[in-house]
Amino acid sequence: MNNAYFDFAEPKNEPVLNYAPGSAERKALQKALAEMKSQQRDIPMYINGEEVRSGNKKEIRPPHETGHLLGHFHASTEAHVHDAIDAALNARESWAATSWEHRASIFMKAAELLATKYRYRMNAATMLGQSKNAYQAEIDSACELIDFLRFNVHFLSQIYKQQPISPQGMDNRMEYRPLEGFVLAVTPFNFTAIGGNLPTAPAMCGNVCVWKPANTQIYSASVFMEILIEAGLPKGVINLIYPSGPVGGEICYAHPYFAGVHFTGSTGVFQGMWKSIGNNIARYKSYPRIVGETGGKDFVFVHPSANVDAVVAGLARGAFEYQGQKCSAASRAYLPANLADEIKTKLVAELKTMKMGPVDDFTNFINAVIDEKAFDSIAKYISNVEQSNGAAKILCGGKCDKSKGYFIEPTVIDTVDPSYVTMCEEIFGPVLTIYTYDADNWIQELDVLDNTSPYALTGAIFAQDRHAIEFMTKALVNSAGNFYINDKPTGAVVGQQPFGGARASGTNDKAGSVLNLYRWLSPRTIKETYVSPVDYRYPFHQAD
Ligand code: NAD
Repeated sequence: MNNAYFDFAEPKNEPVLNYAPGSAERKALQKALAEMKSQQRDIPMYINGEEVRSGNKKEIRPPHETGHLLGHFHASTEAHVHDAIDAALNARESWAATSWEHRASIFMKAAELLATKYRYRMNAATMLGQSKNAYQAEIDSACELIDFLRFNVHFLSQIYKQQPISPQGMDNRMEYRPLEGFVLAVTPFNFTAIGGNLPTAPAMCGNVCVWKPANTQIYSASVFMEILIEAGLPKGVINLIYPSGPVGGEICYAHPYFAGVHFTGSTGVFQGMWKSIGNNIARYKSYPRIVGETGGKDFVFVHPSANVDAVVAGLARGAFEYQGQKCSAASRAYLPANLADEIKTKLVAELKTMKMGPVDDFTNFINAVIDEKAFDSIAKYISNVEQSNGAAKILCGGKCDKSKGYFIEPTVIDTVDPSYVTMCEEIFGPVLTIYTYDADNWIQELDVLDNTSPYALTGAIFAQDRHAIEFMTKALVNSAGNFYINDKPTGAVVGQQPFGGARASGTNDKAGSVLNLYRWLSPRTIKETYVSPVDYRYPFHQAD
């Protein structure tokens, strides 16, 4: 019997543990790291709730210790992609018919398992597989993912309560159906939480999913899949596979029951997907939902009235935490000439104190970048500075070494050209470029900032002058989907700063907010008339 309204109250954000020396959590995490490092995991795909092994094994190694083998994953063939779609579509009817309170309980249970039993294993997997330090793993693979699950359950229960008005004589109601088909979730390497959120947000709404993570995140993605299974996710609702992106994508986009894509990754990949979906448009049963959060060239604009120490801390954390591999990371800074020297001197001094090395030494602030391709691409931007004919110079850092792991020092490039390449292009590494402007011209400089890159993901302004803060907030209205005042442009928290950018940075559907969930629902409006008219005639056309 289901005759009551169930309430999933607004949750509190999961508290962030601090892993200080001597703390219980530090010991538990160190134990989990040692355990995981001592094993070689053989990671299967999960199709229709079954573990599937192709035998085509690909190695997984920590980016900071490439001599160590963590295990393998089994790469998918085209047949596995078809199997995953079939499994999803077979599960569709019964999952859509499962009552909301039971669907919700699966995700609430997964959040609880992650907060308790699996917290350290999940964080250890993220640290080893993606080279995050303990704190960066805690805020991502524990807290943010737990928050995504709990807040989305709450938001969805709020949506289900929204109903149209019913004047006397009729009943109007709205059902929030899942989409008619399957949703493809394609996820990036840099956040375990995004990996978990992109398939679970549509699934929570009653959709079935095919989930393709980045190869470099499979190690932690598979731990989350184990949690979902333990939480009771029925077979076929989320199918985790590892094909190459283009191969898996093309099979999904060509399917008549392709109902949508939930993507986070680079802008080029997203634009390619959109084109393929457009080319297939006549094949589909319904118009697919296209949701993508993509690249950024995130700015820090320093006003002449700014507090220097706040700027230095904002740049040090905002540009270099997780090696600058956050879509929100500060990667270009505009400094006023009256403060520039002091900011540069203090910033360089701070960066020199940042220790770099493997994740199991907790004193390291900086770890490795994700893989060799990323290392080579970032290193090229740095080495190209030498050929810039004086347009740019390396202010600090710049050393790159891939002998033991993919290590790149926190690097600051100082440029005299506001359109120098590293002021415009997304580098996705520990590289910040700074440009010094004439403090009297700060208003004109906002235009330069706004027109320098196609992106509009995050941005921060630093100022003490309230009129300037108000002016900049208005002038930069379209330059960032997440805008920060006197704070670093990273570190959005679910429920507090819904995340997403506009322009080339994505569809801005704000992951972890009520807005995102609407994209995975197809409402049906039902009108019931209690006493039906029995004559088609209206009074107006009667003769006088
Ligand atoms: P990526 O674009 O290289 O890969 C993302 C996913 O797409 C992976 O699963 C990859 O295998 C898959 N893929 C690659 N080519 C494909 C294709 N042709 N068809 C289908 N799938 C394909 O991105 P990444 O290196 O994993 O992540 C970094 C990027 O993600 C950066 O650009 C960053 O700004 C962006 N990002 C954005 C946000 C945001 O919220 N806006 C958050 C995190 C990361």
